[in-house]
Amino acid sequence: FLTLKWRKCLYFLQTIIRRIVMANFDISQFKVVESPYYQEQFNEVDLYKVAYSSRLPLMIKGPTGCGKSRFIEHMAYKLDKPLITVSCNEDITASDLIGRFLLDSDGTRWVDGPLTIAARHGAICYLDEIVEARQDTMVVIHSLTDHRRELMIDKKGELLKAHPDFQLVISYNPGYQSIMKDLKQSTKQRFVALDFDFASPEIEVIIVSNESGVDPEIAKKLVQFANATRKLVGHGLDEGASTRLLNYAGVLISKGVDIKDACQIALIKPITDDTEVREAMNTSMEAIFG
Ligand code: ADP
Repeated sequence: FLTLKWRKCLYFLQTIIRRIVMANFDISQFKVVESPYYQEQFNEVDLYKVAYSSRLPLMIKGPTGCGKSRFIEHMAYKLDKPLITVSCNEDITASDLIGRFLLDSDGTRWVDGPLTIAARHGAICYLDEIVEARQDTMVVIHSLTDHRRELMIDKKGELLKAHPDFQLVISYNPGYQSIMKDLKQSTKQRFVALDFDFASPEIEVIIVSNESGVDPEIAKKLVQFANATRKLVGHGLDEGASTRLLNYAGVLISKGVDIKDACQIALIKPITDDTEVREAMNTSMEAIFG
């Protein structure tokens, strides 16, 4: 049995070792190493820079696949800051974001979750589709998004002051929200917001031909078709074909798949099972591609 003095000594040693391990944590592994291709849509790059310079929490709103995540990757690269992305879903809890004790051969060991790593070591933490996560996650981000910039790690009894480089960014798709699943005003009003949408046809053609390697003339028709599907929103469709799906169609076409087959498998079948909506899309496809 160890005497109290030795136990204190051991505790002190453990604390020092933990500090050294944390000091050695290599946050640069989260840096975006290659410049992500990004076409600016409005003055979002400058607006982001100003928001980041004051570490304002940021909400990026817009439909799925319109470039929100790509934009954050682009900004993290430009600012040379590490980026930690969490794709939220209904299984994500506050503990998944903050961290937990794990049991291993040496006993229990605390492991920081992604939000804690970002706050402790100074990264941009991007919570993609946060509204999908469980309600308890909203509460934990509150103290990080006001003047306190701190995170209470209850299980460890630690009050973590966020690193000066830390910034919280969330994405939010207004089209998906229902009364059951929406951000509360008390959460919304902690963020500045940027409204994203699909790029203008001219810019989207450049994106699709760049990303997929498809000929710009074909990209132009694909974009025209996507915009026809976007007009069906509210008439049987929740969302029209995204830029991401246009890229898939472009990739298939550049690999030799017939244009109409590519439209079927990349732009029509993934987004609806409704026969009437599919028929309406087929009619547009025939009109555009002949
Ligand atoms: P989300 O809005 O769902 O986060 P992403 O950022 O993943 O969407 O965008 C989906 C795809 O669309 C990207 O992989 C990229 O190929 C393309 N994309 C959309 N907008 C842009 C843009 N402005 N510049 C470059 N690529 C874009």
